[in-house]
Amino acid sequence: MTHYICTGGCGEYSEIPGTCNNQSCIKYHQPLTVCHCGDGHHEQAYEHPNTTIEAEDAEVI
Ligand SMILES: [Zn+2]
Ligand SMILES: [Zn+2]
Repeated sequence: MTHYICTGGCGEYSEIPGTCNNQSCIKYHQPLTVCHCGDGHHEQAYEHPNTTIEAEDAEVI
């Protein structure tokens, strides 16, 4: 399931695109990173922290 997380370490998690809302986070107000993991570790998001949009949406008919 697609979700969005903050890679700044604050634990921000969202099911829709957005930005980090934790003022104490180093990525405050920066876009959340898209992730598709199912184990809750968000490894792919941390490996590619600049992926802020759904790259797989390219198959629109
Ligand atoms: Zn954050
Ligand atoms: Zn994840």
